[in-house]
Amino acid sequence: MKLFAKEALLPEGWQPNVLIEFGADSWISNVKVNAAPGDAERARGPVIPGMPNLHSHAFQRAMAGLTEKAGPSGDSFWTWRELMYKFLSRITPEDNEAIATQLYIEMLKAGYTAVAEFDYLHHDIDGQPYADRTEMSTRLMAAADTAGIGMTLLPVLYRHSTFGGLPPTEGQKRFVMALDDYAELVHELLARRGESKRPGAMLRRVGIAPHSLRAVTPDELTFAINALDQGDAAAPIHIHAAEQLKEVNDCLAWSHKRPVAWLLDNANLSDRWCLVHATHLDDDETFRLAQSGAVVGLCPTTEANLGDGIFNAPDYLMQKGRFGIGGDSHVGVDPFREVAVIEYAQRLKSARRNVLTTANIRNVGAGLFRQALAGGQQALGQRAGAIAPGCRADFVVMNAEDPALIEREGDDLLDAAIFGPARNPVRDVMVGGHWRVREGRHAGEEAALNSYRKTLKRLLA
Ligand SMILES: [Zn+2]
Repeated sequence: MKLFAKEALLPEGWQPNVLIEFGADSWISNVKVNAAPGDAERARGPVIPGMPNLHSHAFQRAMAGLTEKAGPSGDSFWTWRELMYKFLSRITPEDNEAIATQLYIEMLKAGYTAVAEFDYLHHDIDGQPYADRTEMSTRLMAAADTAGIGMTLLPVLYRHSTFGGLPPTEGQKRFVMALDDYAELVHELLARRGESKRPGAMLRRVGIAPHSLRAVTPDELTFAINALDQGDAAAPIHIHAAEQLKEVNDCLAWSHKRPVAWLLDNANLSDRWCLVHATHLDDDETFRLAQSGAVVGLCPTTEANLGDGIFNAPDYLMQKGRFGIGGDSHVGVDPFREVAVIEYAQRLKSARRNVLTTANIRNVGAGLFRQALAGGQQALGQRAGAIAPGCRADFVVMNAEDPALIEREGDDLLDAAIFGPARNPVRDVMVGGHWRVREGRHAGEEAALNSYRKTLKRLLA
């Protein structure tokens, strides 16, 4: 199969007259620039790689916008978390699948082509295991299949309420698994990673997510990594780290180290790792994390919504630190907006403009977008996120007819999609060599919305 684009974003930058060849097995076999279209399908706009969404808690999509009312005694991340626990206490496997299917279709329509799902809702409403321990994970995989989005599934190990191995709270009972059960869950999911009702496409990878240093002890962290290594010693490892100041202070009280410093000293961080948030870093952590090869998982709209704080992006990026973007709680489902918020946080903080520039790319948004593609690809452990031979055929065709994008080209077009008022910057989306979105519509969107509406009606009754 062949796709011809008058303009496409390749790893080396924007190129004209690009002919992309890919097989029925979903992988790109050849990319030619300054080529003739021949009999290739012609893309209906400029083509960019699909963005990986490196951090998702799918069920939280259903509560987006419902926690913006002031509580009785001052609101914080921690009061939000109590509301989130209340909400998830009612979610059934059917609900989880309906919400995730709706979300993943929204992601595709927005220009995400793969998602890393931080999968921690393991148990039934009463806290007991389901007859099939993979029940909830299976629902998420089914949602990804229905939508047709790439997925890195990260079963979460969650054991404790805070540092020092303290017992979990009532609100955490659906997350907490015995260690042996967790190892079996990881192995069962690894065994099923190639299974899909989608033809041809290798859309899935399985890694792990030890939830945080709050929720797992050092021994349990090692246990989880060993369980993964038995099946796939190169697979991704994601962990929440240093999202909140309270967490940093609690970690200092427990270990005399800050969370990221603890991980740098004890966890052999490498390019397998994704540290989600890493909001609160001192200078030494910033420098060492940038050198480690790990990816920082920035979730800009969620971090703003939860009042987490501002990531030290200028110093981290100056030291060539890697990052990707995640939707996390899904108050935003839009990769262009996530990138804009990274830069806007720095402008508001420094009272300057165009803060996060790179040495060779003058367009701030486009530079950040390209770095997020590379970091997301690494964090998901998938050969996707670039238009290059050996990568999956995941493409986003930009809607150059959106009034905000008219007469823009190359990095100016990306900047306009990121900082401009585009309503529909994305026209068509292909994943694994198959079109999932055409003219802004997904073939399964009506059925998904009907199920989602029924689920919301029940959950919010
Ligand atoms: Zn998270």
